[in-house]
Amino acid sequence: MTIDIKNNIYAISAPSGVGKTTLIHKLIDNNPDKFMLSISHTSRAPRGQEKDGLDYHFVTEDFFTNHKEAMLETATVHGNIYGTSMYEIERIKSLGRCPLLEIDVQGVAQVIKKIPVITIFVLPPTLETMWLRLEGRATDDLPTRWKRLCNAHGEIAQAGIYSHFLINDKLDLAYNKLASFILEGKDTLLLNKEEGLKYCKNLMDEFNNAPWIKKLRLEINGRI
Ligand code: ADP
Ligand code: 5GP
Repeated sequence: MTIDIKNNIYAISAPSGVGKTTLIHKLIDNNPDKFMLSISHTSRAPRGQEKDGLDYHFVTEDFFTNHKEAMLETATVHGNIYGTSMYEIERIKSLGRCPLLEIDVQGVAQVIKKIPVITIFVLPPTLETMWLRLEGRATDDLPTRWKRLCNAHGEIAQAGIYSHFLINDKLDLAYNKLASFILEGKDTLLLNKEEGLKYCKNLMDEFNNAPWIKKLRLEINGRI
């Protein structure tokens, strides 16, 4: 099947630490003539080496109040406002590329009501793997990682809005599945909605019952 990538828009989400940024950057680096990351606006401060206009457009909270009609979607994530401008999508399309939106579940819920978009939710093999990746990334302290794990539970609970699901187990394998879906239209390598939601249920069970999370919860409560 030949895919008219230029005419598609993809929204890719995942709880923090699953590996969506890694996968999206790999897709763009391997296909710079086909894809562009949609650069979001955010009210959060730049982190580390992040550059304005490259990683995000760093703006004030007032920006979002004053530019409501220019935004395709906005959402408050981990206490900061984020949003995709309509202009950004048009800019990428005018360059003949396919926009990749790395946005959260609240944003996807708004976008699917406004424009045709293909939605992918990336899942960890287990929450424990995700937790170890967050530790390995070493960008967040323990309370922040705990907050991200709790947010993951909330995000996974809303997974029903996505049409396609990808498990990021072995990176190369997950990347190949994502690339064959987006570049060649092979959706049999991803999970469909029914399979994806079954997988999400197992992750929710892990969140509610796994001994390692119970132990962690006690540790966090002891710290507060
Ligand atoms: P997200 O953007 O979803 O928060 P990142 O892309 O920053 O996640 O990945 C979180 C950490 O996990 C990073 O250190 C990354 O190198 C690592 N990582 C991503 N995918 C995999 C994978 N399949 N196996 C092992 N580590 C991974
Ligand atoms: P970070 O601050 O770590 O870069 O991003 C935090 C979260 O915000 C991620 O889950 C990311 O997907 C989400 N995010 C980034 N940009 C946008 C956006 O424009 N809209 C929405 N809804 N979420 C975004």
